[in-house]
Amino acid sequence: MFIISIKTDFSAAHHIQGYKGNCSELHGHNYHVEVSVRAHKVNSIGMCVDFRNLKEIAETAISGLDHKNLNTLPFFKGKNPTAEHIAQFIFKRITDNLKGSFSLDSVKVWETDKYAVTYSE
Ligand SMILES: [Zn+2]
Repeated sequence: MFIISIKTDFSAAHHIQGYKGNCSELHGHNYHVEVSVRAHKVNSIGMCVDFRNLKEIAETAISGLDHKNLNTLPFFKGKNPTAEHIAQFIFKRITDNLKGSFSLDSVKVWETDKYAVTYSE
């Protein structure tokens, strides 16, 4: 099996309700997003999926997040836009639109250079 990954990014603001500390205040992050898919075979030129196609899929999934206050988006109504929920949101958006000879493995969201969450099903 192959796991093919691409990275993309977006910038957004959020605040975490109920957090005891400065994350409860509105602030921003430059999020990095790593999307990985699984495939079992390569095509006639030795590729499972074109990185560019995968990047397009990922960018479609994160469109609407860039330069937004995530707390105001419908998906995050009633829940905090934590890295966990953002990863889940992106995973769901990709699975809703994914077709082809590969399946979604995981979505990893980096909130900082040191902190990341990976979501898979
Ligand atoms: Zn934050």
